[in-house]
Amino acid sequence: MAGCEAAFQLAERGFRVALVEQKPAAMSPAHQTPLLGELVCSNSLRSNDVDTPAGLLKDELRGASSLVIACADRHRVPAGQALAVERFGFGRAITVALALHPNIRLERRPLETLPAGPVIIATGPLTGGPLGALIRKQLGGDRMYFYDAIAPIVAADSIDMDHAYRMSRWDKKSDVEIPGSDDSVGDYVNCPLDKETYAAFIDAVLAGRKVTPHEFEEPRYFESCLPIEVMAERGVDTLRFGPMRPAGLTDPRTGRWPHAVIQLRPENRYLTAYNLVGFQTRLAYPEQQRIFAMVPALAGAEWLRFGSIHRNTYVDAPRVLGPSLELKSEPRVRLAGLLTGVEGYIESCAMGLVCARLLADELAGRPLAPPPPTTMIGALYHHITAPREGDYKYAPTNVNFGLLPPATIKTHPKDKQGRRIFQIERAMADAAEWSAVTGTVGAP
Ligand SMILES: Cc1cc2nc3c(=O)[nH]c(=O)nc-3n(C[C@H](O)[C@H](O)[C@H](O)COP(=O)(O)OP(=O)(O)OC[C@H]3O[C@@H](n4cnc5c(N)ncnc54)[C@H](O)[C@@H]3O)c2cc1C
Repeated sequence: MAGCEAAFQLAERGFRVALVEQKPAAMSPAHQTPLLGELVCSNSLRSNDVDTPAGLLKDELRGASSLVIACADRHRVPAGQALAVERFGFGRAITVALALHPNIRLERRPLETLPAGPVIIATGPLTGGPLGALIRKQLGGDRMYFYDAIAPIVAADSIDMDHAYRMSRWDKKSDVEIPGSDDSVGDYVNCPLDKETYAAFIDAVLAGRKVTPHEFEEPRYFESCLPIEVMAERGVDTLRFGPMRPAGLTDPRTGRWPHAVIQLRPENRYLTAYNLVGFQTRLAYPEQQRIFAMVPALAGAEWLRFGSIHRNTYVDAPRVLGPSLELKSEPRVRLAGLLTGVEGYIESCAMGLVCARLLADELAGRPLAPPPPTTMIGALYHHITAPREGDYKYAPTNVNFGLLPPATIKTHPKDKQGRRIFQIERAMADAAEWSAVTGTVGAP
């Protein structure tokens, strides 16, 4: 996704590109065809509706003349509001567009050393072999993660605060100042469970349907990062002594520690999204929705992202990448796609597009024009590049409304839907302006 989009964006701007693809000589365990733009699993690029994060991102990509989205639109199959594609037609269209492009030379071989000159590495979630080793060496030590343990994220305004309370454990607050937040309320939102609810919750976690890992994903969990269902299998109280530990979290309504608690930690500086601390899981998405709704504070939760665990390869982008997505240690080398810490086909495509445009700016001697954070493309870019405070654990993200700055008090209507509409309209307007500034290219 990212490599195809990046090559196309550069070539359309008049730069000559060598596109190196290892298939068919070498195939990852997930890739099966020699086609470029191969969708390794689902044939859906998710919703096409601009009211959804994925639909909004695609709308922005369309406006930025994305090759991937143009080919998807052309090979669409009926799938309701989703943009699902006939995968072979889609891959063939991308392959033909790139192979026949006068500015692209397609080289079918595994890249094992870094060529001279500016290079974009977009080798995806299964990057391994000599290139993987080379990137790891370049990053200096253990800066490339392999197993992704992602905790679910919930929209702040969907948490039922009548059944939750704000407090940091032992009432210790962090020294990170968040503009507009009242630090007297504590950094965490705590969702208590009584004894009966906790017991029912554990039973549901144990019985819930889990996603079966791929053969090459045979789980090797880190002991400090176990899925909740694995912990639940070890005993009914294991979670209560782990991520659901109530110690130091006195419920102001009872004056006591609850039986168990789910802690929610702010996911962004806008405090519009919270992640469930330590809740990485292989439960199927509908099961997460059903089972987490047993927690009184989360009964009506709007999930911005569900939890998951799978093999992945991505770098600690805020630490190792600069504003052009270049390696700080070797600035002629840029990373794009899933390697940078985004999840999903369209997110990877978006980061290929951004990386190429930033490289084009640099090669043309123009000032860098990164996408504004108010757009979905920009929100992903800023997720990757924004400096982090203190001790953080960088986790990949897919596109979600929690990444966008909230509507400001002055400009937004007070209702939730009005605020969302404001965010969407602002994203569309700012994305159109960015595309105009960075130069659109003709439809492929
Ligand atoms: C098993 C699996 C299932 C997934 N299912 C989904 C899903 O259903 N929906 C979704 O949105 N996302 C899914 N993803 C995530 C998905 O892979 C990414 O979202 C997306 O494809 C990543 O885009 P990318 O451009 O970074 O990498 P890729 O699309 O994987 O592209 C990387 C390319 O680089 C090539 N390459 C790798 N190493 C070398 C080398 N050394 N030299 C030359 N070429 C090389 C590969 O052959 C490949 O063509 C899945 C991932 C995996 C592993």
